[in-house]
Amino acid sequence: MLNIDLHCHSNVSDGVLPPAGVVARAAANGVHVLALTDHDDVAGIAAARLAADAAGLTLIPGVEISVSWGAQTVHIVGLRIDPLHPELVAGLHAIRLGRIERARRMADDLAHHGIVGAYEGAHAYAANKQMLGRTHFARWLVGQGHAPDMRSAFRRYLTRGNPGYVEHEWTSLENAVGWIRASGGIAVIAHPGRYGLDARALHLLLDAFRSLGGEAIEVITGSHHPSEYGKFADLARAFGLKASRGADFHAPGESVDIGRLPALPHYCQPVWQDWPELAQHSSFSLA
Ligand code: AMP
Ligand code: MN
Ligand code: MN
Ligand code: MN
Repeated sequence: MLNIDLHCHSNVSDGVLPPAGVVARAAANGVHVLALTDHDDVAGIAAARLAADAAGLTLIPGVEISVSWGAQTVHIVGLRIDPLHPELVAGLHAIRLGRIERARRMADDLAHHGIVGAYEGAHAYAANKQMLGRTHFARWLVGQGHAPDMRSAFRRYLTRGNPGYVEHEWTSLENAVGWIRASGGIAVIAHPGRYGLDARALHLLLDAFRSLGGEAIEVITGSHHPSEYGKFADLARAFGLKASRGADFHAPGESVDIGRLPALPHYCQPVWQDWPELAQHSSFSLA
């Protein structure tokens, strides 16, 4: 069977490997088709594509866009996007500027709680100084001994109600889906199980997303517990949405590795079903 992983991060956002390193790891793990989906930036795609061509792996240009949906932060993955599309490029640039401003407020809040130097510290952990996120703060907090590991760093800090957490207005669901579609891409709701939404809110989100032109949700992801796979496969089917699969890989040893996930349930309609890029792998069954 084809191993298709459509969600991962390089050090262009909050992963630790450079784009070519992510592709090399995917190839070593037996992945045939990989989407690089960095948060709010497409700067890694060119290097990833070169590495993928050399490794005989199919690279799908992607992105993971940060969205505010009411009070909720939601991540929308764009697949088969055009990373040069002006509307998408401008929208992502504006989000990254917002991240820098948010990072200053996060550092101020940590300073109020006696942890000084967090902005400079997190900045030093970011390979791409344009893309500053909570993960860079978490790595710095662990490095400084404020938390033993990433999990605890997020539990003690950086999450709602804890030092270092600040509210932030990302872009709208409409903008994110609109930019993805304008650039020729397919919009996918990332890890729908991660948002803590009850059934009603989840249905509202899926309805809103679908009416804006969104086409798929992640069913098999490193961010879902295996016990959740069936629920989201059923929801995809009920809402007429396609299903995606991706590890949400960030770093070796942190959560799930690239391509190391179960297959989609057989009754799901894969998001990659009609993709011409997959024809070169036609000796495999596209299950
Ligand atoms: P940001 O977009 O800057 O708010 O950061 C979100 C990122 O933080 C996610 O994409 C994850 O990589 C990471 N993250 C969020 N919550 C956790 C957690 N509890 N443990 C580890 N990483 C987390
Ligand atoms: Mn991340
Ligand atoms: Mn995400
Ligand atoms: Mn992600």
